[in-house]
Amino acid sequence: MKVLVINCGSSSLKYQLIDSENESVLAKGLCERIGIAGSKLTHEAAGKEKYVVEKAMPDHTTAIQMVMDALVDGTYGVIADTSEISAVGHRVLHGGMKYSDSIVVNEDVKKVIRECFDLGPLHNPANLMGIEACEAAMPGVPNVAVFDTAFGMSMPEKAYMYAIPHEYFEKYSIRRYGFHGTSHKFVSGEAIKFGGLDPKNAKVIVCHLGNGASVSASIGGKCVDTSMGLTPLEGLIMGTRSGDLDPAVVQFICNKENLTVDEMLNVLNKKSGVLGMSGGISSDFRDIEKAKEEGNHLAAVALDAFYYRVAKYIGAYTAAMNGVDAIAFTAGVGENDKVARKTICSYLGFLGVVIDDEANDVRGKERVISAPESKVKVMLLPTNEELAICRETVALVK
Ligand code: AMP
Repeated sequence: MKVLVINCGSSSLKYQLIDSENESVLAKGLCERIGIAGSKLTHEAAGKEKYVVEKAMPDHTTAIQMVMDALVDGTYGVIADTSEISAVGHRVLHGGMKYSDSIVVNEDVKKVIRECFDLGPLHNPANLMGIEACEAAMPGVPNVAVFDTAFGMSMPEKAYMYAIPHEYFEKYSIRRYGFHGTSHKFVSGEAIKFGGLDPKNAKVIVCHLGNGASVSASIGGKCVDTSMGLTPLEGLIMGTRSGDLDPAVVQFICNKENLTVDEMLNVLNKKSGVLGMSGGISSDFRDIEKAKEEGNHLAAVALDAFYYRVAKYIGAYTAAMNGVDAIAFTAGVGENDKVARKTICSYLGFLGVVIDDEANDVRGKERVISAPESKVKVMLLPTNEELAICRETVALVK
């Protein structure tokens, strides 16, 4: 079955066409600057030259049409006709409390995605535009919504309730939801398979460390806690996000700097994290590491704080589960940065974690990086959200 996987942003659309039989990527690409001057589609198919189309994309419907044209193009395409696409899987940010699993889109599902615009103001409207564009371009082809919040829905109340007046939960559904759920579900499942763990009871901690970063704890593949909250701002220090913070900091800076709460939230989302801590060097961990090597103190503090926060969460989640069988590292930093993995694990000697330096000297490959005597299996497991979305889609439409 050929599945088109779509990840829509407000002005971008990423796609992959995946053959679910052998899970190979037939083609992938990106539409940029949708609705803005200078729109561009970049399309890459296995064994073919890159194809770039610079043409106006006033909306997501036009973008989807251009993706279809690229997929069936005589030179750069990979299918003869769009009828070869059996289903479309969409990454959708927020499913509120309604969806704890992926679902085939119908009018009710679209209504819930719309009701969650408040909770995911940047992503949900774009995700819905992507779905409606596919409905228009491929009538009759099922669309599946794969929610980033679904994995977190199995958290118990003690993990997801904030200690604020209960009326805010009742009125506005204010609670912890968690994000990166597709990645956490995929990697925790891979950890169980790859590590030969008990599928029903394995206690797994996944560290998704990229530009956005989060940690999850799961038992038998079911999430029991995760570090992001009502929004992706909570939890770890990230590329540009602050993560956990005393809320009084918001009031204090707003008063001193004459900022609105919205402006302050923009600072916490876009100007904080290692970018802010390093005095504005970069949000890219490679640049921060380079600056640290060159002797920059703020860069060194930013990195140390990042590693320390991850280790604290691992400690907390080990307590939450009363043990841990495996810790998996994934995403940009988790997959590529052996120093990050080693430093984080250096806090975990009390758990009997021992890293094998030779095994840890690896990038982007599935591998156990702990020594045989380690009491906890530590693994590098590349995430693959597109493949996860493809699998969820196939499971629902088959
Ligand atoms: P992601 O959000 O998962 O795509 O991760 C992107 C981030 O991974 C980048 O911002 C980099 O900071 C980080 N990254 C990628 N490669 C490396 C590397 N070799 N060492 C350290 N960080 C890396």
